[in-house]
Amino acid sequence: MSEVDVIVAGAGPAGLAAACLMALDGRKVALVAKEQGDASDPRTVALMQPSIRLLMHLGVWPGTLKEQTQPLKKLRLVDDTGSLFKAPAITFDPAELGEEAFGWNFPLGLLIPALFARARDLGVEFPGADVASVQTYGDGVSVATTAGLRIGARVALAADGRNSILREAAQIRTNRWAYDQTALATSFDHSGAHDGISTEYHKGAGPFTTVPMPGNRSSLVWMERPARAAELMALTDTELAAEIQIGTHGELGRVSNIGPRRLFPMQGLVARDFARNRIILIGEAAHVVPPIGAQGLNMSLRDAAQAVDLMEGEDDPGQSTILADYDAARRRDVQPRQQVIDMMNRSLLSGFMAMETGRAAALTLLSQFGPLRRAVMQYGLAPSAGLPRVMRPPQGSTPALIA
Ligand SMILES: Cc1cc2nc3c(=O)[nH]c(=O)nc-3n(C[C@H](O)[C@H](O)[C@H](O)COP(=O)(O)OP(=O)(O)OC[C@H]3O[C@@H](n4cnc5c(N)ncnc54)[C@H](O)[C@@H]3O)c2cc1C
Repeated sequence: MSEVDVIVAGAGPAGLAAACLMALDGRKVALVAKEQGDASDPRTVALMQPSIRLLMHLGVWPGTLKEQTQPLKKLRLVDDTGSLFKAPAITFDPAELGEEAFGWNFPLGLLIPALFARARDLGVEFPGADVASVQTYGDGVSVATTAGLRIGARVALAADGRNSILREAAQIRTNRWAYDQTALATSFDHSGAHDGISTEYHKGAGPFTTVPMPGNRSSLVWMERPARAAELMALTDTELAAEIQIGTHGELGRVSNIGPRRLFPMQGLVARDFARNRIILIGEAAHVVPPIGAQGLNMSLRDAAQAVDLMEGEDDPGQSTILADYDAARRRDVQPRQQVIDMMNRSLLSGFMAMETGRAAALTLLSQFGPLRRAVMQYGLAPSAGLPRVMRPPQGSTPALIA
């Protein structure tokens, strides 16, 4: 059996970032995964300033990524439900927080190879096969790969996604639920300028969100009832462009050049423990949220950065006190955030007048009351309890650090 300090299972964006962070911290890391990423993934991910600082710490930002990504200069929320109680549109402007941009929008198809390349530079070991089985002991954990290799460590980070086999081995149970929604993810050209603004149109079946990309191009996450999403998926590019143009009310001009598209059934998941039996859950192994307010991967990167903070300088990075502290810290960040996202999503789907009125009243308050709007923006960027070390702004830095 080969021995490392830390096993990371799963080479999605969360696992790759976690492996790089651990290696930079001087740990010997094995990243156990078969996949080399999926270049055809149509998703883009909006990463907020704290996540960008983490990428800077890893040395993958700005690099070549900066030219291929787009700063998010404003976020606009439009009540497009057609409800009787229509809320005014709200624009969240980072200038109100002294920032020039909320963050940057990355195609996952660019981010994942950049993280892979960095992990290799940092000496992360790649056995090149998935985890087949896991064993936990009092003082360590070991995995067997699908290629028959056995690797042992003091701790394992489970970044093996929503059906994590490491989570199961740690005997951690989950709460899971499904939404009556499917998201269509794609991208498109438009004749008008987006001005760096992302717009979340709140429609009756969920948000329809455009996120700016370089040039006159935007990515789209369109949440719909599953049958309607399947219909959209079957349209020709020209037909889908026409539907998107209707969805945006022509605000971005003429829509053309539709990119690859894919459907994502909407689910929610939260682990009942975030760490146990020498296994720490990272990313979607711990929490799954619908893509509203760009929270999913931003939370996952905080998972990884929090784990590194707690393990810093420790001879045994899998000891029970570290796991207990991780559990408490991540629970505080993830659970309330997940509840807010769930409530926002369900308020669109409910069709109950009381819910619609409540949502419209809350949005009206947000649009008119600056301190509340700033508090919401601040919360969207970072948990109130503070950020892990590598995500904090350097002392004395100007807010315009990365814009
Ligand atoms: C349409 C859409 C838009 C989104 N937009 C945003 C956004 O703007 N901002 C944001 O922050 N988040 C966003 N998200 C969320 C974000 O995409 C996810 O949080 C993130 O991709 C999850 O990363 P992960 O590494 O945790 O999981 P995954 O990407 O699922 O990675 C898990 C990996 O583990 C591997 N694996 C599984 N089993 C094993 C095994 N036995 N052994 C080894 N490996 C295994 C899988 O193959 C996979 O590669 C969006 C999500 C969707 C669906």
